[in-house]
Amino acid sequence: MVTRRGIIAGTGLAAGAGVAGAVGWRAWRDREPASPPETDANGRLLWRNWSGIQSAYPAARAAPASEDELASLLKSAAGPIRPVGAGHSFMPLAVTDGTLLSLDRISGLIDHDPAALTARVRAGTRLGDLGPALAAIGQEMPNLPDINKQSVGGALGTATHGTGRGLKAIHGEVLSLRLATADGEILDCDATRNPEIFNAARVNLGAFGVVTEVTLRNQPLKRIHKRVEIRDFHDTCDDWPRLKAAHRNVEFYAIPFTGKAALITADVTDAAVLPRGPDTDASATMELKTLRDLFGWSAPLRQWVAQRMITDVPPQDMIDDGWKLLSNDRPIRFNEMEYHFPEAAQIEVLKEVVAAIEAHRSDVFFPIEVRTIAPDDAWLSPFNRGPSGSVAVHAYYKDDYGFLFDLVEPIFRRHGGRPHWGKLNSLRAADFAALYPLWSNAMAVRAHLDPTGKFLNPYLRGALLGGSA
Ligand SMILES: Cc1cc2nc3c(=O)[nH]c(=O)nc-3n(C[C@H](O)[C@H](O)[C@H](O)COP(=O)(O)OP(=O)(O)OC[C@H]3O[C@@H](n4cnc5c(N)ncnc54)[C@H](O)[C@@H]3O)c2cc1C
Repeated sequence: MVTRRGIIAGTGLAAGAGVAGAVGWRAWRDREPASPPETDANGRLLWRNWSGIQSAYPAARAAPASEDELASLLKSAAGPIRPVGAGHSFMPLAVTDGTLLSLDRISGLIDHDPAALTARVRAGTRLGDLGPALAAIGQEMPNLPDINKQSVGGALGTATHGTGRGLKAIHGEVLSLRLATADGEILDCDATRNPEIFNAARVNLGAFGVVTEVTLRNQPLKRIHKRVEIRDFHDTCDDWPRLKAAHRNVEFYAIPFTGKAALITADVTDAAVLPRGPDTDASATMELKTLRDLFGWSAPLRQWVAQRMITDVPPQDMIDDGWKLLSNDRPIRFNEMEYHFPEAAQIEVLKEVVAAIEAHRSDVFFPIEVRTIAPDDAWLSPFNRGPSGSVAVHAYYKDDYGFLFDLVEPIFRRHGGRPHWGKLNSLRAADFAALYPLWSNAMAVRAHLDPTGKFLNPYLRGALLGGSA
């Protein structure tokens, strides 16, 4: 997203609003959220997720370097044993006072098949490291999420996805996986070997065992042309069906209180490289925050200033290998709720959410992300009921995110949305059972693999078994 810099400062309105605006109030609102102590009373070190809202003091931390080491550790480690990747989930998935299990040392490319365009990869590999490793063998993952900090295991854990109507979430391109179970057994799983486990545990929340490696179906390395342009919000909504059909990757960010949207497309090209240049998303987001801080008290004025900031901003173009362009840096922390819908419902949901935020939450300034995802058949995949559309609402990490639950989630739920497994939601086992036709089959596989609940923390007991969280 791009905005014309410095306009707020130049309007003169800003000066007036700045004087009138309660500087003390803004400073108070801008304070860092309280941070838990670095150690607990027992001297155990603090663990926190990326956004800072989840924390734990694990009694033990382990980072096995091989499958054998992992297998023996699983037999003896204190529960709950919680695998962790990059800690980028917003839900308390990795939280444990037992054993926090990092896969960071079980990482890297194992081998590949140039004819089949597949690659075997260890589960602790970060997506950002996989890009260049695959490029070196002429391959790339068909799609990537908005960032590439995640581990492969973590991405499967929560059904991490990118955007593109013909492009599946990452687990949708997994041809086989190896799973270390609670009793230290290593299982090969694919369409013919342990097929039930393969179907149940491709999206797994780290609750079925520990994935040690996967075989990914890739594609030949391709160059893409990525474009970011500002458009009218309602025109973009109306154009969404055409945009989804016309572009390999397409998404847009609805910018609340502006009437505008930032459209991002990417298509394969043979054109010469045009590097992406320095990131402007973070500064644009902070300009939206400034707009909120100065003009949040008047929605019409806020929109009037925003429209003048954003008008005539030229499109940004970049051309390079897909793995270099599809993901972004996100230096500004936030908390997020994202739900997935049958694609026909997506725009109606979005419009309702934008209207609700503009009516009730003038403090919100983060753009709302709108993406499209192809179906797959994993039992716990939010995308297994057909082509899906997602809507993701963000809250700046210093701001109250309660509105995600009070205002946004009821709209999402009314439209039959399925939550992203790693992002904020209040659902529990009975809710998931109603949303996933094969829920009980998946839970039976889980119970068979982990009968004593070694992998379950209190949150997962509530979300998977219906016990108290
Ligand atoms: C800035 C930001 C941008 C994001 N963008 C996107 C996006 O574009 N699309 C999207 O879908 N999501 C996105 N997410 C969410 C993110 O992709 C998921 O939460 C993902 O699961 C995080 O990966 P991780 O490696 O940090 O996993 P963690 O958060 O550490 O773990 C996630 C789950 O996987 C399990 N797990 C990890 N490794 C293993 C393993 N080897 N075996 C078994 N279980 C394991 C954990 O136990 C946990 O249940 C974003 C998050 C952030 C913070």
